[in-house]
Amino acid sequence: MQNNSIIFLDYASTTPVDPRVVDIMLPYFGQKFGNSSSIHKYGQQAEGALEASRQVVADFIGSKSKEIIFTSCGSESDNLALRGVAFAERKSRGAAHILISPVEHPAISNTAYQLQELHGFEVETIPVDQYGMVDPDEVQKRIRPETAIVSVIHANNEIGSVNPIDEIGKICHSRGIRFHTDAVQGAAHLPVNVDTLNVDLMSIGAHKFYGPKGVGVLYVREGTPLFPSLTGGGQENNLRAGTHNIPYIVGLAKAFELAQQEPQERLSHYLPLRDRIINQILDEIPSAKLTGHPNLRLPNHTSFIFQGVDGNTLLMMLDAAGYACSSGSACKTGDPEPSDVLLALGFPKEWALGSLRVTLGRMTTKGEIEGFLETLPGLIDQVRELITR
Ligand SMILES: *Cc1c(COP(=O)(O)O)cnc(C)c1O
Repeated sequence: MQNNSIIFLDYASTTPVDPRVVDIMLPYFGQKFGNSSSIHKYGQQAEGALEASRQVVADFIGSKSKEIIFTSCGSESDNLALRGVAFAERKSRGAAHILISPVEHPAISNTAYQLQELHGFEVETIPVDQYGMVDPDEVQKRIRPETAIVSVIHANNEIGSVNPIDEIGKICHSRGIRFHTDAVQGAAHLPVNVDTLNVDLMSIGAHKFYGPKGVGVLYVREGTPLFPSLTGGGQENNLRAGTHNIPYIVGLAKAFELAQQEPQERLSHYLPLRDRIINQILDEIPSAKLTGHPNLRLPNHTSFIFQGVDGNTLLMMLDAAGYACSSGSACKTGDPEPSDVLLALGFPKEWALGSLRVTLGRMTTKGEIEGFLETLPGLIDQVRELITR
């Protein structure tokens, strides 16, 4: 992916839209512009595209089509899941305890903390190990009859680790507690069958798998109590008001189909490149650590911390050298705070401020990676000198 000869190595933040997806979307901006709620032919056409898209998503996650709720993004799906179930479970049975991991995307953690601050819920975090993984036994110890919802991230955006969602789900179900997973990263690379994973709710977002930005899915298992967070018309089973964004929904379904149909092809492209980066950086750069699990991680994901390195300075130098990378969390300028996720893994601040995430795309080449690996050590030396001076 070339843009003014800057090499993009930040595919966990977003991806370009696959041309096959763009093609399928285009007619729905123009001649097929109908509102899916209208009775006439234009409406029927939009409704047909909507329901066909819903069926595609349902087939790939192993659900019923009526369990698919289209939303405006992964963040909205997370918000709807957490708020919707928390409010419904409190109303029906007084449950006001929310259990989340300390390595959630802010769309979950900030929603949970708002429920605590403004609405009187109690939020408890499940400890994670050095790889940011949740031990199902720790869920078992903390889950209570008055737990309204448990939410644990599937594959972590910052550190790539993939949690044992199926086992956590089993525990939640044996206790009769609703379980949500944020699979926005995972769905781009891994099978996400809702029965295998034992989830009641699951968030997906299109722009992490070569679909458009601004469209997502929340899977909601039949019978799960949920209040809408966007009220209005009766769209999406009365759970998400708003005229359907048909072109984006059609695009999401196509992109998801491609991602889920081509996993093997994509894996065999990613894995050698991923492992080459990990091995080379750990071998060549002193005081470097991999963050996240060495193999139970996303196939296109590498993430590191470097002692005595200012991560933002490193990112700017990499950008100047022609490589677009990330620190893993939302980039903060000014007085940098270490990422909550890295602190939850037990890394000291001095290490956690030096984070680097390098994530691969379908078009990333071995040559690009070799160039990057030649460039990085010198830049790290330079940043370290800036700090000690
Ligand atoms: C990107 C991402 C989100 C947010 O999705 P948007 O569609 O950008 O709102 C949520 N969770 C995870 C794990 C993500 O990677």
